[in-house]
Amino acid sequence: MPRTVPLPSLCPIARSATLLGDRAVLLILRELFFGVRRFDAIQRNTGLTPQMVSARLRQLEKQGVIERHPYQVHPVRHDHWLTPAGQDLFSVLYAMRNWSERWGFPALDQGPQRDLAIRYTHRTCGHDVGLETICPGCGEELRYGSLVGQPSEALARERASLGGMPLRSMDSAATTD
Ligand SMILES: [Zn+2]
Repeated sequence: MPRTVPLPSLCPIARSATLLGDRAVLLILRELFFGVRRFDAIQRNTGLTPQMVSARLRQLEKQGVIERHPYQVHPVRHDHWLTPAGQDLFSVLYAMRNWSERWGFPALDQGPQRDLAIRYTHRTCGHDVGLETICPGCGEELRYGSLVGQPSEALARERASLGGMPLRSMDSAATTD
């Protein structure tokens, strides 16, 4: 049967899905939004193989979502920074977080009093933003760099168990590694 749908599709969701419809890509983006920029830390925190991380970072760079910057000369090593196109994916990852927290996907059976995995406050006004995309305190739209996060003890333990690295307060624009 001849293919009737052109590739790449004219549909923007289909085009986004060619990059974002991949669990490894989304986990790497999560780390970049947490301010984790170095290969080893990304690999450790995601639990992906080095080959998977390497292939996805190349793909993200090719698509203009990240840039590599040298941070060490001998030997040369690079870290990875979100471009404006990458920073604009904040709304995608934040929506995924909100949806999962709102609907309990998948069911964790921890009862209705379960903490949010990360409690975010608005950097400029200090109000708890809950699961909102507009700050309930000041009415500003929440964007890349707007949030300061405090992980729950359970999430901090889960993160620490991946590599023994203590989890610092998560901050969507902070520089950590
Ligand atoms: Zn606010």
